[in-house]
Amino acid sequence: MDNKRLVDEFLSLVAVENFEGVYSKDIAQGKYFGMPLEPIIQSERRLRARNERSIAYFSMEYGLASSVYNQFQSIRPVSVQNMNQTQEVFSNFRLADYLFTVKIDTLMDLPIYSGGLGVLAGDTVKTMADYKLPVAAIGMLWNTGYFRQKFWFKYGQMPEKIHWDINSYPGLIPLKNRIKISLQSEEVYLRLWKYYVYSYQHDYAVPLILLDSNIEPNTEKNRHLTDQLYRSDDTSLKAMQRIILGMGGVLALNELGYAIDIYHLNEGHAAFAFLEKARGVTGDEREAMRKHFAYTCHTPVEAGHDRFSISEISKIVKKEDFELMEKYGKDSHGMINLTLLAMNIASAINAVSKRHQQVMHTQFKKYEERIQFVTNGVHTHTWISPSFMRLFEEFSAFFGDIKANPYNLVKAKELKSNPEFRGKLWQAHQENKEALCHFLEKWKLNKNIFTICWARRIAAYKRPSLILQDVNRLIEIAKKYGPLQVLFAGKSHPQDDLGFTYINMMLDKIDELNKVTDNLKIIMLENYEIALAKLLTSSVDVWLNNPLPPFEASGTSGMKAILNGVLQVSTLDGWVVEAEDKNIGKIFGYRWEDTKPGSEHNLRMVDDSHRLYEALEEMVALYYRTNKKGMVDNASAWIDAMIDCVSAGAHFNTYRMLDEYKRLIWNMKENPSRHP
Ligand SMILES: *Cc1c(COP(=O)(O)O)cnc(C)c1O
Repeated sequence: MDNKRLVDEFLSLVAVENFEGVYSKDIAQGKYFGMPLEPIIQSERRLRARNERSIAYFSMEYGLASSVYNQFQSIRPVSVQNMNQTQEVFSNFRLADYLFTVKIDTLMDLPIYSGGLGVLAGDTVKTMADYKLPVAAIGMLWNTGYFRQKFWFKYGQMPEKIHWDINSYPGLIPLKNRIKISLQSEEVYLRLWKYYVYSYQHDYAVPLILLDSNIEPNTEKNRHLTDQLYRSDDTSLKAMQRIILGMGGVLALNELGYAIDIYHLNEGHAAFAFLEKARGVTGDEREAMRKHFAYTCHTPVEAGHDRFSISEISKIVKKEDFELMEKYGKDSHGMINLTLLAMNIASAINAVSKRHQQVMHTQFKKYEERIQFVTNGVHTHTWISPSFMRLFEEFSAFFGDIKANPYNLVKAKELKSNPEFRGKLWQAHQENKEALCHFLEKWKLNKNIFTICWARRIAAYKRPSLILQDVNRLIEIAKKYGPLQVLFAGKSHPQDDLGFTYINMMLDKIDELNKVTDNLKIIMLENYEIALAKLLTSSVDVWLNNPLPPFEASGTSGMKAILNGVLQVSTLDGWVVEAEDKNIGKIFGYRWEDTKPGSEHNLRMVDDSHRLYEALEEMVALYYRTNKKGMVDNASAWIDAMIDCVSAGAHFNTYRMLDEYKRLIWNMKENPSRHP
């Protein structure tokens, strides 16, 4: 097809609003923001075909960063509002001020996610595109995002609203399509947007459909429903956001003419989707519908499970819908519980790691038989650093094509006896560490100094400050074995007072350490996002993961780290349970005994920090036996562990994960070529 025909064909399938006025520059010459148009046409056709088993994948958030993977180009200027221009850094060895700034000037992540769940959803959709699955992803167009994090010294985290320019965000387009949700006393109108997620070879693209209430003729109040992700201070707003994702999502799929076979719900957030399908059908038909619904639970933590009072929901949805909600979603406390609703309507339920499955079995005894597990993974193309990808390519006679088949990383173990591979692996790591030192140039980090990082969402059960519990121990270790560089990053939910207090306390502790700058550098970076996660997970020596077991359902940042040969110091929780025997680092601390989860607030900080310092001491000692100021012992057990990390990474990726979803959850044929 010639270029003009391609654009016409695209426009016949995708009703772009304001095409002539705005988007015709970026969708022209057979291109979509620099990517080929053909794959979009292909996937749009497949989603309309009746003979495909298409999947609708629902999530409240998606973590996608064009600056890190599959960069879109725009001919129009990108508004500065969409750029991250600076990165502030807080450290214990400040020169003149408390904060310093690094210039970055990169496109900010699509601001529609908050943390791990979103990044997982983004990684999953990228992998679905790599697998060329007929999938439509459904999410929300958050008009003011989640928030941009600023630190204020002696005050802590200041959340800032993100005023992004939606119309100049590369890859994102508005559609002419409108849908209407009919509620008890009003109607809510939604505009649809699309953002295409391309495969790594740019030969397929999954549409991500984003729902937006910021249009006429909605009331002023309703126009703000899709402003901010995870506001928790207003339960009616919270309910409305879930109604939009679930009911609005199904209406959007209908409006676009997609023939969907499987509705995959992430968290209970999207459970209202059921209403849109179950209304006005017989009981038998409704039973039969269950085989089209699947549900993934992502957390054992209370706050992750949405519950609404009967009176709240009965005021919002129509009587018939409310009766269905009561029938399928009322819990023993008389609340409408979206987790229960999702479990009651879905034929397949899964936890996100083996350990999480055990925890769910104790939490939801009645559903025990039906709860399976599919351990999370990460998208290897996004998270393997260029220097490691080059290394794997250099040894391609041995590994095969890692891009096409990341399972082959498992073979890395067999290269342990190859001194050349060991040396080059170390070099690739040092190269990544140099990139970190370069990024933090003003702080004079050293690539031959032991470097450890804790970076993730700041939530109490993740215990961000565990390593700062007794800083004298850190100083002692540094004196005894050699200096330490410790990095932190993470956002705390703006309404999580405890998280806020943590950040405050950590900034204070870092500040108190400003006299010991010789042996111990501690740095806290603001506004943890995907680009920063990529830099940190690939460049430090040790990735610190110390959640209180069993509250980390899976965790994924450690998976990003092992793919880059970064060792773990971790408690035994989430995915790490499945890698316990794989020599990926050091496991320490409190162990959960298959009983009840206990309280996520009894954090066991004192005991577990002692265990952490012991583990750390061993790791630091081994590190400095391995790396003596740049003189490296190629035979060191440290390098063995780096190789074992890479090898373990063969399992903890989204390709293996999707194969399992296809087999266990969606009853689809697998792609047999990928299995080792
Ligand atoms: C991977 C990632 C997370 C999730 O980290 P966990 O280890 O699961 O807590 C959160 N935020 C960003 C930006 C990430 O890239």
